[in-house]
Amino acid sequence: MIEILSPTEVSRARATGALVADILQTLKDRTSAGTNLLDLDGWARAMILDAGAQSCYVDYAPSFGRGPFGHYICTSVNDAVLHGLPSDVTLSDGDLLSLDLAVSLGGVVADSAISFVVGDAPDPASAAMIAATERALAAGIAAARPGARIGDLSHAIGTVLRDAGYPINTDFGGHGVGSTMHQDPHIPNTGRPGRGYELRPGLLLALEPWVMADTATLVTDDDGWTLRSATGCRTAHSEHTIAITADGAEILTLRSR
Ligand code: MG
Ligand code: MG
Repeated sequence: MIEILSPTEVSRARATGALVADILQTLKDRTSAGTNLLDLDGWARAMILDAGAQSCYVDYAPSFGRGPFGHYICTSVNDAVLHGLPSDVTLSDGDLLSLDLAVSLGGVVADSAISFVVGDAPDPASAAMIAATERALAAGIAAARPGARIGDLSHAIGTVLRDAGYPINTDFGGHGVGSTMHQDPHIPNTGRPGRGYELRPGLLLALEPWVMADTATLVTDDDGWTLRSATGCRTAHSEHTIAITADGAEILTLRSR
């Protein structure tokens, strides 16, 4: 199903997006060597509930996970890239952490993810990989406007990732957003321009380029949720929810800093 939101619903989505952005920024600011993944989950839970919002994750039980997820945020460390199940793991300086958060507020969902290296001295390879997913995300957003097609966004994202030297996995990608977290259209992280669903105002999309440094193959952790690189290499993930507007796209989950 593809939902087209009314202007009132888009303004509600702005509030959801601002909440998601604020929670992710706060979690990033609080993270340091010694932070436990379960601390991050607890902080996310408190901020979601304080805002009167609902977690999209806690009861989530899709076919690809051992559901329900039972936690409030995805915490993926180093070789983990997607759906990282929070567990009793304490972060160290230099760890690469990806946080992914989706919540519902006022009946509308927003979904966003960030990657960063714990501490003040990120290793160059991790920094470059994170930067590539951020550039790919920006390129996908720049291609999003009424009349553009999903393939245009996929092509823009994939071109950046491929030019940066990363293999692309198409098992998971971006998606429509609205009253629920995962809707059509699916947005692969590579594709052909001019193909697929034509964008129009009121459509909400989550774009989410992610890469693994040297492989396109995922393996599922024993926890039944966390997806890791098959080679043990590091990974990165960047995601924003955008609204298609009359003349382009508005980022709903833009962080203030
Ligand atoms: Mg997400
Ligand atoms: Mg998403």
